[in-house]
Amino acid sequence: MSCLFCRIVDGEIPATIVHETKTTLAFRDIHPKAPVHVLLIPREHVPNAVDLNGDQLGDLFAAAKEVAEAEGVAESGYRLLFNTGPDSGQEVFHAHLHVLGGRRL
Ligand code: C5P
Repeated sequence: MSCLFCRIVDGEIPATIVHETKTTLAFRDIHPKAPVHVLLIPREHVPNAVDLNGDQLGDLFAAAKEVAEAEGVAESGYRLLFNTGPDSGQEVFHAHLHVLGGRRL
């Protein structure tokens, strides 16, 4: 299996997991752009954010809210970001929602 994030889901590649549900996984970005930088992914392989169905999107956003609360940025605010396609800078083609916070962005 070549998808990096599928390999994290399967436990083949280590990641610092901070939250998980039946359908989603959240782990710390290895190159954090902010004090809090967590990636949320669907366990199922979906290449791109715009290919996610409504249930998958709902699950990711619900998980993002829980992660923000657990990371202590719910009150101060945070950024939710999907890079979508090569020109956006998307590097990993398994849909992922960035949660960034902990400083003024
Ligand atoms: O949105 P984009 O595809 O650019 O984001 C991919 C993110 O995945 C990067 O921020 C990168 O640091 C992160 N990454 C990671 N663990 C890996 C490989 C990439 O957290 N093993």
